[in-house]
Amino acid sequence: MRSMTCPTCQAAFERNETQFPPFCCERCKLIDLGNWLDGAYRLPGEPAEVPENADSDGESSD
Ligand SMILES: [Zn+2]
Repeated sequence: MRSMTCPTCQAAFERNETQFPPFCCERCKLIDLGNWLDGAYRLPGEPAEVPENADSDGESSD
């Protein structure tokens, strides 16, 4: 008997109890995959800042 621990939910289970090793179930596998993708696609240090001096306020000095 080989017991494993699910990386997602930390549940202990037997190797032959799962069809989605090393996860205990498909749900945990998808959750882990989702976390991984979330981190992989997030670019660090890229603030979505818009410059405030965009002139479209109709204050024409004419
Ligand atoms: Zn799990």
